[in-house]
Amino acid sequence: MSGDLVDWQPPRLAVAGGGFFPVRQVWCVGRNYAEHAREMGVDPARSEPVFFAKPAACMHQQSRVVYPPATTELHHEVELVVFLADGGRNLAAEDWVSRIFGYAVGVDLTRRDLQARLKQAGLPWELSKGFDQAAPVGQIVAASDWALDPAATIELQVNGMLRQQATLEDMVWHVPLLLERLSRSVTLRAGDALMTGTPAGVAALDGNDRVMAKVHGLPVLEFSVRGE
Ligand code: MN
Repeated sequence: MSGDLVDWQPPRLAVAGGGFFPVRQVWCVGRNYAEHAREMGVDPARSEPVFFAKPAACMHQQSRVVYPPATTELHHEVELVVFLADGGRNLAAEDWVSRIFGYAVGVDLTRRDLQARLKQAGLPWELSKGFDQAAPVGQIVAASDWALDPAATIELQVNGMLRQQATLEDMVWHVPLLLERLSRSVTLRAGDALMTGTPAGVAALDGNDRVMAKVHGLPVLEFSVRGE
């Protein structure tokens, strides 16, 4: 079997107003809101941001998420997601602003029980973050149509009940600084997405839950969780 028989495409995310954004890589940051760091048992004192990755294949815009295996504690983490039109290595914060393609609201789904067990054992916890459908995102809005507003609210509801709410200015590390720090470790490129961390209030989802995630001014993300 030769390589040209393999039929594969990167995830293609719909952009408001038309077109698609092909996802190359999904970067994430942990503990970027102080209250969430505290609820995870971590001192939010300003230290270097903690980055990790989710497989790009996790990112999607499907309206149903099948409850994943290997967990009984599937947590929601609502996050602002930044998409890059251009990349670079070791660039200063101010140089990243013009490289941002757009923004969407997303949810960093996490198998929290699995993550806790792996952390406890001193093992890598990739599979708590990387699994089928682990990163639902809404429609992307181009940076020319939505300015990053620190006063914008970010929130998540489950079955109409508010679970998470903050404003973007509650981020410990703001978007350009996150990109600066991440680009010291890796070359960022067009097609990369960065999930910018979640506020306090993370909690478990059940089969049949209906999730609504919002960042003020961006298209609402809605999905339902289905048992297998
Ligand atoms: Mn997260």
